[in-house]
Amino acid sequence: MNDVAGYIQRKTMLYQTGVEYGDYTMNFVQGCSHGCKFPCYAFMMKKRFGQINSYEEWCRPHLVSNTLELLNKEIPRLKSRIKSVQLCFSTDPFMYGYPEIETMALASIRKLNAAGIRCTVLTKGILPASLAHLSSENEYGITLISLDEEYRKKMEPGAAPYRERLEALRSLHDAGCRTWVSIEPYPTPNLIEQSLDDLLNAVNFVNKIIFGRTNYSKETSAYTEHRKFYNDKAAEVIQYCEKHHIEYHIKEGTITD
Ligand code: SF4
Repeated sequence: MNDVAGYIQRKTMLYQTGVEYGDYTMNFVQGCSHGCKFPCYAFMMKKRFGQINSYEEWCRPHLVSNTLELLNKEIPRLKSRIKSVQLCFSTDPFMYGYPEIETMALASIRKLNAAGIRCTVLTKGILPASLAHLSSENEYGITLISLDEEYRKKMEPGAAPYRERLEALRSLHDAGCRTWVSIEPYPTPNLIEQSLDDLLNAVNFVNKIIFGRTNYSKETSAYTEHRKFYNDKAAEVIQYCEKHHIEYHIKEGTITD
């Protein structure tokens, strides 16, 4: 288990994402120990705007210590406008091996649920079993782009092993929760040769699958067949989901002409 590297204060917490799926979001941590090498879009943006100087700094998470106070102020003002809150967009709410972050995530979800606000969670950590006791409207998801632990160690060095992630998700499904998987950024074969079918079979119990290509990666752009590859893989996902009655969403830009 790890301690966070420090604490920061913020002025606001809830904001609208403006992305293709999702409504409001909150980021109650700065940085992320998962240190994804896809690369991580949140890290790239923070670095570009000078909020983070290096990858090493990004991997040392700082908890926003006034998160709950901010939610107390913002929820009454915004709740009539909010359909759902996603945790998180530019960090991970259940960062692997950080109990203090988990505690803050759970307290935040409880607070939002108490105001009648549904939460959507996405993590590369372990979803705690206690989530099953919170609002049945919530949705719990993991990111899973492979089943190969060597690839996980290379691309998501600080994140939870795939098997542990999946087991936690499965437990919540078995407890009656709504679950989902984000298969994004799906790697091209020059990054790893793997079977998409095996991956889909491993998550076929979930309610929803989101599939998306790898962006901002030199390796993927260098793979000359990447357009055809993603068109084919997206078609496979659609066919699989339709056959197994799973909801799906293919991210913009994954399917091209
Ligand atoms: S888990 Fe998400 S926020 Fe954390 S490093 Fe990976 S991509 Fe970035």
